[in-house]
Amino acid sequence: MSDSIEHRHIVIVGSGFSGIGLAIKLREAGFGDLVILERADDLGGTWRANTYPGCACDVPSHLYSYSFAPNPDWSRTYGTQAEILEYIRAVATEHDVLGHIRFGSELLDARWDQTWTRWRIETSRGPLTADFLISATGLFAEAKYPSLPGLDTFAGTSFHSLHWDHDYDFTGKRVAVIGTGASAVQFVPEIQPEVAKLVLFQRSAPWIMPRLDRRTSRLERQLLRRIPLAGKAIRGSWFTAIEGFGLVGFVDKRFRHPYELLGRLQLLRQVRDPRLRRTLTPDYMIGCKRAIFSDAYLPALDQPNVAVVTDTIAEVRSHSILTRDGTEHAVDAIIYGTGFTPVPTAFERFVGRDGLSMADLYRKQPQSYLGATLAGFPNFFCTLGPFGAAGNQSAIFMIESQIAYIVDALIAMRTRRAVCIEVKPQVQQRFLDEMAQRSKSTVWVTGGCTGYYQTPDGRNAGLYPNWSFEYRSRTRRFDIDSYDIDSRDDEVHEVRA
Ligand SMILES: Cc1cc2nc3c(=O)[nH]c(=O)nc-3n(C[C@H](O)[C@H](O)[C@H](O)COP(=O)(O)OP(=O)(O)OC[C@H]3O[C@@H](n4cnc5c(N)ncnc54)[C@H](O)[C@@H]3O)c2cc1C
Repeated sequence: MSDSIEHRHIVIVGSGFSGIGLAIKLREAGFGDLVILERADDLGGTWRANTYPGCACDVPSHLYSYSFAPNPDWSRTYGTQAEILEYIRAVATEHDVLGHIRFGSELLDARWDQTWTRWRIETSRGPLTADFLISATGLFAEAKYPSLPGLDTFAGTSFHSLHWDHDYDFTGKRVAVIGTGASAVQFVPEIQPEVAKLVLFQRSAPWIMPRLDRRTSRLERQLLRRIPLAGKAIRGSWFTAIEGFGLVGFVDKRFRHPYELLGRLQLLRQVRDPRLRRTLTPDYMIGCKRAIFSDAYLPALDQPNVAVVTDTIAEVRSHSILTRDGTEHAVDAIIYGTGFTPVPTAFERFVGRDGLSMADLYRKQPQSYLGATLAGFPNFFCTLGPFGAAGNQSAIFMIESQIAYIVDALIAMRTRRAVCIEVKPQVQQRFLDEMAQRSKSTVWVTGGCTGYYQTPDGRNAGLYPNWSFEYRSRTRRFDIDSYDIDSRDDEVHEVRA
């Protein structure tokens, strides 16, 4: 039997920081037969999709960028969405990977075919097969909406921060914002001066830390261009400062006190009204959810045209929102700042050897080996897989660790002429036991909050409960002994023939 479907050595799904970085490093290692499937019409992932006003990273850009592509020209400490998108595009262009991307090509289904030792992939633009499948689909792909009675009856304008309506004129409007996560903290100060009234529905107050953002001077940029080591030093300093937050995350919750004090001082300094201050004081330990850095959010809430409502929403009506205490808030628009679905749809579409999807496995228990491979999924890799994401550290640091691991795995396989690898179940189990043990006392599960750091039953949803630099050293080399390897290439080719 011959297989006439297009076949590729490597298929990567997603063209954000992960997919682009993977393609660059795989090409450098001599893997040229690769395709990136991207459902959107442009690259950039998160930074293409989120265009709401104020959208920017919350890890300083000298750190929130590829280590192999430093950029001396960041205009601010924290690059804006447009600037980060431009950066990814420039890196992809410079490293010549644009030609590998198939835009408008959504992965619909991917199943492991044991007989042919390959992945069978259905996309919106037809089928293909691949020796290796790499998920680079990110964690924040689809918008999450609250389930509120009457939501569909709202007659005004409504949209999610991920689907910002740039044509909507906020001037003089009464606007409800539902949710107080990282996106809301960024867009609320942008729209507050324009609207007549802003009603912020808050379920829990986030910890807001000083952002220390500023424009970079021309002199600074010139220096960084001339002395690349200076850029590395800045990157290293930010890395160390942010890594220190691990003390709160997974070392000992008592380390939270100085950070909480900083948050409280910021609140005291920026909000004059003591009642509002109480409303905006978080009721859980800092670090339980990702801490948010903003100098503009709290002052915006302290303005006369803003009301912070903590009563539970009872019902959405055609032109208002009714809270349980019986108050009806008349609004012209509702903006959902309610974040993202905890299990991206792509996870439903990767189906392993036993017919179970990555989502099926995840819902049983967040699982992977090193956040990069998965038992039951031969020749499959992922970035930011369960226990491969960091609490506060730059996601790109973790992604680059995973890229190095994946590239090293493929080199090891090439050297051994191996056709199939799969992490040994007992190795994965040992890793998961270690993750569970280390997670028990983390602030993410014991800090008194609920959020996307936790599964519905209160377990660690997939953060790596140790230092990112420890993760880096653990993923530096592909540990081939942890894998079942099939080097029967001649045999397999005979069967196929
Ligand atoms: C607003 C916002 C701000 C953030 N700020 C920070 C920050 O400051 N610091 C930090 O560390 N992290 C931050 N993050 C997290 C951020 O997602 C990661 O840092 C990083 O961008 C992830 O890159 P990625 O390539 O893995 O995934 P993504 O950027 O999400 O890219 C995934 C790509 O996969 C594509 N895709 C998904 N499913 C399919 C499919 N079925 N078929 C084809 N293509 C598909 C998507 O279209 C997308 O282009 C932020 C996230 C958001 C939403």
